[in-house]
Amino acid sequence: MDKKWFVGVDLGGTAIKMAFIDRDGNMITKWEIPTNKTEITTDIANSIKEKLYELRQPEAKLAAIGMGAPGPVNLTNGVVYEAVNLGWKDYPLKDELERKTGLPAVIDNDANLAALGEVWKGAGNGAKDVICITIGTGIGGGIIADGNLIHGINGAAGEIGHYTSIPVGGIHCNCGKTGCLETIASATGIARMANEGIKDTTEPTILNSIKGEITAEDVFNAAEKDDPFAVNIVNYITFHLGIALANTANSLNPGRIIIGGGVSKAGEILRKKVEENFVEYAFPRVAEQCEILLASLENDAGVIGAALIAKISDLD
Ligand SMILES: [Zn+2]
Repeated sequence: MDKKWFVGVDLGGTAIKMAFIDRDGNMITKWEIPTNKTEITTDIANSIKEKLYELRQPEAKLAAIGMGAPGPVNLTNGVVYEAVNLGWKDYPLKDELERKTGLPAVIDNDANLAALGEVWKGAGNGAKDVICITIGTGIGGGIIADGNLIHGINGAAGEIGHYTSIPVGGIHCNCGKTGCLETIASATGIARMANEGIKDTTEPTILNSIKGEITAEDVFNAAEKDDPFAVNIVNYITFHLGIALANTANSLNPGRIIIGGGVSKAGEILRKKVEENFVEYAFPRVAEQCEILLASLENDAGVIGAALIAKISDLD
């Protein structure tokens, strides 16, 4: 069969996103299933079979499967060194996935694959030097230098979320350190800052009218309306993001920095304030040529990037 499809899988803490993509990168279909931590590869294999049946396609229609895992990955054997949120330690994801699906599998880190997806089909527009930052529950990073995804010696390159932003007295991070960028500027960090800060502030803020926990989205919505308490938080987190991206860019001299993940839905207010701080803290020659953009694939970057590495690695 000449026109085979590739499967892209993006494994998240609450949902597993999947898609079939053709050789030219067109998405045939996408769907998601809930993450059941004990049955991940079985659920994926069953879900693929059901989808093929629904589309009236034979199993032979699929060429290979690519999958992003939320942690550093050994690229030679597809073992996930560690995925804290799933309780995985040295988990042989590639072997398990191949056994259950019967397809050749390629595994990489999810933020790396989202970066690849954005460069391939999204805001990266084929650029060769790109920094992608994914701001969601945590903060991930994917770095493409001279057209190559950077992995490092044990798969942990691009961990922008674990830059030390507060060297002394920062709060505890899931990685074991304190003061990581992720503890400040992730959706979780922003929400925590708002929920703690509102107890001490004497300033009137529209966030007082929110029943229950304040979310990062609430903070950005209030900042859009020039609420001073919310604007202060947005200024603080974009200051830290701007510095982190400026320091990363000073090493790489990229043409583009792409901001993705759930928090990037805040849109222009986030992009513009990150850009202002970036320009202030980056080496001038680095800042001059570097565009700061919002991701354009939103939630699809991960599955598209995953299908892409399956396609790149496909031997037939
Ligand atoms: Zn950390």
